[in-house]
Amino acid sequence: MNMQQASDNSNHDTGFFGHPIGLRTLFLTEMWERMSYYGMRALLVLYMTGSLGGFNPGMGLSAMDANAIYGIYVGMVYFMVVPGGWIADNILGHQRAVLIGAMIIALGHFILAIPVDQTFFLGLIFVVLGTGLLKGNISTIVGNLYGDNDDRRDSGYTIFYMSINIGSTLGFLICSYLGEKIGWHYGFGAAGIGMAFGVYQYIKFRHLLGNAGRSPNAMDDTRRQGLIKWTKLSLVLMVIVIGLGLFGLIAVEPRVFAENFAYFLTIVAGLYFLYLYFLAGLSAKDKKNLLLLFVLFVGAAAFWSGFDQSASSLSIFARDHTDLSVLGFIIPIGWLQFANPIFVVAFAPIFAGLWAQLARLNMDPSLPIKFAIGLIFMAISFIVMVYAVQLAMVTSPVGMQWLVITYLLQTWGELALSPIGLSAFSKYSPKGYMGQMFGLWFLASAIGGVLAGLLGGDATVDGLSSVEPIFTFMIQYYAVIAVILIGMAFVFKAKKTDS
Ligand code: GLN
Repeated sequence: MNMQQASDNSNHDTGFFGHPIGLRTLFLTEMWERMSYYGMRALLVLYMTGSLGGFNPGMGLSAMDANAIYGIYVGMVYFMVVPGGWIADNILGHQRAVLIGAMIIALGHFILAIPVDQTFFLGLIFVVLGTGLLKGNISTIVGNLYGDNDDRRDSGYTIFYMSINIGSTLGFLICSYLGEKIGWHYGFGAAGIGMAFGVYQYIKFRHLLGNAGRSPNAMDDTRRQGLIKWTKLSLVLMVIVIGLGLFGLIAVEPRVFAENFAYFLTIVAGLYFLYLYFLAGLSAKDKKNLLLLFVLFVGAAAFWSGFDQSASSLSIFARDHTDLSVLGFIIPIGWLQFANPIFVVAFAPIFAGLWAQLARLNMDPSLPIKFAIGLIFMAISFIVMVYAVQLAMVTSPVGMQWLVITYLLQTWGELALSPIGLSAFSKYSPKGYMGQMFGLWFLASAIGGVLAGLLGGDATVDGLSSVEPIFTFMIQYYAVIAVILIGMAFVFKAKKTDS
């Protein structure tokens, strides 16, 4: 974002629940995008581990491989937000990046809808690339709708977070039903149709965004041409590598790839923070903010590694060890994941009110403390799961309440961490780096996603007996990071959210 854009938009448009009308366009686009993302994702591991025969044949992969691929997929989706942010900042502008991204995502889901396994990875790659262009940049435009001193920005992000969860509810509802009960590829196709609605409404109402995120950062033409040349070259290289992988000319062992990808992402994130700190010419104040954002980054990466178990180990537990009958109807496995978005919508206002009330009493917890609270809820949620696993070892299946309670606790954790993190990254990013800083925020999700695949694979490799040790490890790991964050809160004690 540049200053010009911010001031152009600091009008007092209140067309959408007291917010700029452009928020409606972003709300609906994100809603459909998340519908397609979560709807498809809920099917992914189930489809990959589904047996080859039967009425709804899957890919017959092992739980270890399927979880690794899931982790690579989630990791890639969020990793691509970094180049996506860079391309928007420097070349396309955020508005155009969102449009192109949305179209590529829809195409990806339609490719997945083709009822053969051969095009499966191609479809995933399109969704990954499209989400890279859309997810971070749409979040950036939300921030750009407000002027620098507009105090509606935080609540704007809260409304935006609602769209994510309404979208994912729709996704679980529609895609899980069609995918599990009729055929996997119908579920994937439904995700494509959802995203197509998103594309349509974005094209129709994009003008409401005004100048927010319209132009890339100002720079002279020769420099921009240079960047475009490098981008094209990278794209060509990427297509070659993907092509070699798809045609089996590069052998990819999912588990090994996922492990190396986790290291790679950690190194990239570390180097990027170092670059920003030492080489980007930031002011002392920006550097202090950057350190705070780094601490939040670590907390978020850990948090998502548990959260993203919903479509990996927890889905497998739901399928194999949970009684899914409700009034004589066997609900789709993915419907249990409803619990998360529904609880988000129910509890988000309560959490927002709580923070506001605490702020009035001057007791609003600092950002690292909120993140620590998020991780503590995540740890408790896995304590509940360990109990459920022990029960299932005695009599399987167990009731679905255990997973519902787990998702409730994780949602409370999410509300202490995710909308707040998004808003903090919008507020404390150095000027001119906002797109890329959102990329970093999502890099935490990328690391969390790959770790989720790795942990999910370890947990499910050996039926129920491998679950408990891995979940116990996770509980300890979340607790340790929570303690570190609490320690960090003392270092940053001056920094509070304004919400
Ligand atoms: N649930 C949020 C979303 O889908 C956050 C997910 C994440 O960052 N891992 O946008």
